[in-house]
Amino acid sequence: MDYNHLAELLFPHIRQTPEEVEARYPKRALPEGAKVTRMGPSPTGFMHLGNLFGALVDERLAHQSGGVFYLRIEDTDKKREVEGGVETILKAFASFGLHFDEGATLQGDSGAYGPYRQSRRAEIYQAFVKSLVQRGMAYPCFCTEEELAQAHAQQEAAKENFGYYGKYAVWRDRPMEDIEAELQKGTPYVIRFRSEGSIENKVRHEDLVKGKMEVTENDQDVVILKSDGIPTYHFAHVVDDHLMGTTVVVRGEEWLATLPVHLQLFRAMGWKAPKYAHTAQLMKIDPETGGKRKLSKRKDPELALDFYYREGYPVPAVLEYLMTLLNSNFEEWRRANPDAPMDDFPFSTKKMSGSGALFDIEKLRDVSKNVISRMPAGTAYDYIAQWSADNDPDFHKLFTRDPAFSKAYLAIGRGGKKPRKDLALWSDAKPYMDFMFDELFQPDYTLPQNVSADDAKAILADFAGVFDENDTPEGFFDKMKAIAAAHGFAADTKAFKQDPGQYKGAVGDVSMVVRIAVAGRQNAPDLQTVMGILGRARVLERLRRAEAAL
Ligand code: GLU
Repeated sequence: MDYNHLAELLFPHIRQTPEEVEARYPKRALPEGAKVTRMGPSPTGFMHLGNLFGALVDERLAHQSGGVFYLRIEDTDKKREVEGGVETILKAFASFGLHFDEGATLQGDSGAYGPYRQSRRAEIYQAFVKSLVQRGMAYPCFCTEEELAQAHAQQEAAKENFGYYGKYAVWRDRPMEDIEAELQKGTPYVIRFRSEGSIENKVRHEDLVKGKMEVTENDQDVVILKSDGIPTYHFAHVVDDHLMGTTVVVRGEEWLATLPVHLQLFRAMGWKAPKYAHTAQLMKIDPETGGKRKLSKRKDPELALDFYYREGYPVPAVLEYLMTLLNSNFEEWRRANPDAPMDDFPFSTKKMSGSGALFDIEKLRDVSKNVISRMPAGTAYDYIAQWSADNDPDFHKLFTRDPAFSKAYLAIGRGGKKPRKDLALWSDAKPYMDFMFDELFQPDYTLPQNVSADDAKAILADFAGVFDENDTPEGFFDKMKAIAAAHGFAADTKAFKQDPGQYKGAVGDVSMVVRIAVAGRQNAPDLQTVMGILGRARVLERLRRAEAAL
């Protein structure tokens, strides 16, 4: 067989040689040990938690080692691609603060190892495929879907392995006349790689996550170029990660099954394979069955990345929670370093679990409460302002009307050893502070059972007479005690507990009456501080309003 002739027949338009292509992708000049990682999402319009999970590993490995983290758009499957898919990808990563050093951007490519969209690399792949054909290592296959389905049925009946191998590899050794005849007719064809592997052989692989393993050699003549001249994932992965200098491929464990194909292709091309980190699937406990299962696009809204933004999960909390799933020692590190930036954590693939990571949204909420409670009020303010601008414009107007006012409220109980943990989501901000805005103030004047309306009115009238917005919380409490004593309530809770029959209630009931009047509800952060922020006129007005309503 004249392979050169065949290669010219198939790729007359390809003039560049593999060497010429290689020369355009020089080895990266990076310090010893620097890792080059990449994200290779497909523009399907759906970005999921798994994408972010993997991206975090990529980002940490690269940036922790002084390497490069880049974005490559894997748009070889036109059927799955949607309009605006690339934009969705870029927005999703940007919204989580993941920064690519190079790769596809909306304005085009940034970096010297592009193009970073696989659809724009057709001639590069074809140059390598042409060279494989010239060396008798790849060949065209003209099988139709029906023929392949027939072979599949035959294999099923005979209980044989499925696929294109052995006697089923019907175009593997076909004479040139047959190939020329099909080409003449214009029959569509794919290019297959000629496998020299056997399922009798094992290949050793050391995965950064899964550890040492043996995989069965590939004996299938896999498709490397589809009939439209675009490569399959297998071939594009091998060519791109070689040319772009990727040193670690982080991807989902669903790719382990075809790893033998990839290792075989790297060997056939004479290239060093990158290291692989196959990450475990994200699992959850099914609320109905109580069993563990994979997160599902159909059943679990939390699989979609835009869910987190919409619902108001703070970005640092999501990242931090994913890090607890990725590295078993992260939580311990966080306890020892409560205020350190997450990037100070020494991330390691060695601490990654090879089995499924259990995603628990309740745990994420807990992490989120901690993360928010550690933020300075100004940071929380900025996040809430941004989130509400997109998701709750009415609240946004009120919240940002007087930034100092909102920040002062958010500052209550922040800092210190035991900060308040009222907010898990940015959407919690509104119910947490709506009463601070007259427009949203809808008081519920339900009194504690042991306080009569008349007593409450008297308490409010007394308090209006002594209220001073400049009091300290202790000063306020002293006033509460005095009012309690004047109206038959115990000024001292202990005294009340010792002899409850003596009193109508205790000082706590008295301050509750004031809280209900000022905040319109039984729960609110430190009342004296709240009143200081609301200001004298508003507090007096609210006291009057409650008195009238009771
Ligand atoms: N395009 C592949 C995917 O969408 C990327 C896998 C990889 O990172 O190699 O899953």
